[in-house]
Amino acid sequence: MRGTLFIFSGPAGVGKGTVLKLALGRLSNIKYSVSCTTRSPRPNSDKEGESYYFISEDEFRSMIKAGAFLEYARVHGHLYGTRRDFVEKTLEAGTDIVLEIDVQGAFIVKKNMPEAVSIFVKPPSMEELNRRLRGRNSESDEEQALRIRNAAGELDCADSYDYIIVNDVAERAAEEFIKIVKSYREETI
Ligand code: 5GP
Repeated sequence: MRGTLFIFSGPAGVGKGTVLKLALGRLSNIKYSVSCTTRSPRPNSDKEGESYYFISEDEFRSMIKAGAFLEYARVHGHLYGTRRDFVEKTLEAGTDIVLEIDVQGAFIVKKNMPEAVSIFVKPPSMEELNRRLRGRNSESDEEQALRIRNAAGELDCADSYDYIIVNDVAERAAEEFIKIVKSYREETI
């Protein structure tokens, strides 16, 4: 039986990473898809091969030509892409997979794989999102301002997702994610 592909999107600062980390720690038979990106690693939080595969624009472009990406998009000025072979192998092995990707990538995947399950994470309010983003200290003021500007457009896309989770409390949001994943497993037994 093929695994299920879950798409997980939401604006920067909403806490996608925290929610996923909590949820994936409590679920078996699900893998996180590590994307390729041309953005520079954040010295204190990023690990090569764990957060992303950090590659040059040239490498990224050769991978596009070779058809190596299931989807790719320019987000906040950098290129990000999902490795097609990893996703295919994981699903074929009967393991679920979660793609933490932006709204453009989500639309591409959903168009090509309508059976994919899309989940959008919303903040409790815009004020709270701004507060979280400013508090995380991982990027420059300029990069933060760009992410805040892009958030409204991303939030406008939330209604086209299969599920919306409000990340008021990460623990609760993670439980909601777990319930969604498990509901697809029960349905296919
Ligand atoms: P960050 O650089 O803050 O880790 O991520 C910026 C944005 O890029 C986030 O919205 C994240 O979900 C998105 N992103 C990460 N990997 C991919 C990917 O492979 N494809 C697409 N389309 N977006 C991605």
